[in-house]
Amino acid sequence: MLHTPLRRSISVNYHFLRPENPNRFALRAHETPERFDAQLVQLSKRFPFCRPDELIDPARDMPESSVMLTFDDGARDVMAWALPLLEKHGATASIFVCAQPYLEGRLLEIQKIEFLMKKLGIDSFRSAFYAEYERRFGDEIEREPLDFAGGYSFYRYDDEETRRFKLDLNYRIPYAQVAPILDALFARAFGADSEAEAVRETYLSSDDLKRLVDRGFELGVHTHRHRVLPRLGFEAQKQEIEIGASFLRDLTGQTGFTVAYPCGFHDENTHRAMRELGLRGGLTMERRAIEPADLRDRWSIPRYDVNDCFDRESNQMLEAVFSQITASEPDAAG
Ligand SMILES: [Zn+2]
Repeated sequence: MLHTPLRRSISVNYHFLRPENPNRFALRAHETPERFDAQLVQLSKRFPFCRPDELIDPARDMPESSVMLTFDDGARDVMAWALPLLEKHGATASIFVCAQPYLEGRLLEIQKIEFLMKKLGIDSFRSAFYAEYERRFGDEIEREPLDFAGGYSFYRYDDEETRRFKLDLNYRIPYAQVAPILDALFARAFGADSEAEAVRETYLSSDDLKRLVDRGFELGVHTHRHRVLPRLGFEAQKQEIEIGASFLRDLTGQTGFTVAYPCGFHDENTHRAMRELGLRGGLTMERRAIEPADLRDRWSIPRYDVNDCFDRESNQMLEAVFSQITASEPDAAG
């Protein structure tokens, strides 16, 4: 077994990056190219960039401190807006992609929810959702436990009513019930045949994905349908990951991918599935620096969201985060 190198890193995760909202499939929040450019200026002054596939590989010669940029959900924005800025600053990045939009021409539920929230507003969306629930499944709501989350504080910036609604949508009401309700509300809000158009406007195309590989970026697995893995049993988890991986393998000829767990959640079954599928490592959303021990046990590599790393107003990088990996000054006394 190879010696674990002493390397530490901060991983910064992005989703959507665009100058403004489109008219039709708009988001509630996104990063802008202008802010991203200024973030890259600050990061590149202090740290080299690396990717998870490089960091995890013990045979690779790597700097002691580095930053990693990742993009989840495979947004079209990566090609349109991030790529020119990444290349301008000589930065590498990893893009985590779900297979469902490509294999089935379907929007991920997580984006359907976003578009509906923006279009209808949270209050109208909530009442429409529960009305549709009652019509289809009755007034007794079936909720799954949140045991897997281990006390994680969900949606801590939302009011209680919004928090409960988001928990129902994303974590508590069974997928088999949420999915058809979202389909119905989405068709009602955007038009019956709007999903294919939404997919085209939201995600990278297959050609984009191949181009990103040609230009030296890492494509990683974000599973098949963005399901929260610990909500599923072992076989279902393995299948979600395997479909995501085989989609990328068929497209690019690559194997042994890094996986970004949807919403960051994972459990022992996830790790077992990852091992059995011969995958490289798993990225969570646990907000802390990557330590050497995280690269020894590769199934729960921590990662920050961009909102944790830069001040929302000034866009200055937050020292509380980045000072964790700043190499200490050489000891003058030697
Ligand atoms: Zn995601």
